[in-house]
Amino acid sequence: MENLSRHYRTGTEVVAALDGVDLEIQRGEFIAIMGASGSGKSTMMNVLGCLDRPTGGKYYFEGHDVGKMDDDSRTRLRAGVFGFVFQQYNLLPRMNAIEQVELPLVYRKVKNRRVRAKQALVAVGLGDRMKHKPTEMSGGQQQRVAIARTLVVNPRVILADEPTGALDTRTGEEVMGILASLVREHGITVILVTHEQSVADHAERVVRMRDGKIVEDTRRPVWAVS
Ligand code: ADP
Ligand code: MG
Repeated sequence: MENLSRHYRTGTEVVAALDGVDLEIQRGEFIAIMGASGSGKSTMMNVLGCLDRPTGGKYYFEGHDVGKMDDDSRTRLRAGVFGFVFQQYNLLPRMNAIEQVELPLVYRKVKNRRVRAKQALVAVGLGDRMKHKPTEMSGGQQQRVAIARTLVVNPRVILADEPTGALDTRTGEEVMGILASLVREHGITVILVTHEQSVADHAERVVRMRDGKIVEDTRRPVWAVS
């Protein structure tokens, strides 16, 4: 991102949700974005994941100027590269875990759906919960199903906006452990939004935002990450 901004105009007022952001993220990084409520974290995630367009500046993905892409290219980039995880799990109440994870493959008309869905559930440590419905699982397990549902289409980048926001500390740790393993074992880039320091401590790099600007960007050696 180069001098990137996202301004919202409501009536006569302009809110600079992002205000001249410079940020370079490498493949395979595990990065946490922190900052108070309203500092622009979700706006940044939405722009990164091509859910939203900036109003100024440049966003390059692997050298390609996303601002110059047409809608079809951006949609393909979004669907082919990014996986999203949110605070709410958005699971369907009547489906069991394996059916939830198969769903994105159904939409994409992919073959071997059951096998791939099982692999994704095993990767998040839910190999023994495949037939469970949301009401039969803990919050942490439901979030892991949501992560498996993202993982099953092989994203290269996972954007997780407050993924532990609805979880207690211990269950949150479990979810963070899963995200860390996706970076370590699958080489996936994970970009995480959180306002909890203990959650950010799992990441190798912490970017802090205030009023739409980056005010701090620190990296830590992998051996120092919890
Ligand atoms: P965070 O995720 O850090 O809490 P957001 O990115 O959601 O912050 O919001 C950043 C700023 O942009 C806030 O002041 C918010 O009120 C404003 N904002 C976000 N979305 C919109 C919108 N759709 N219309 C107008 N203002 C918005
Ligand atoms: Mg937010």
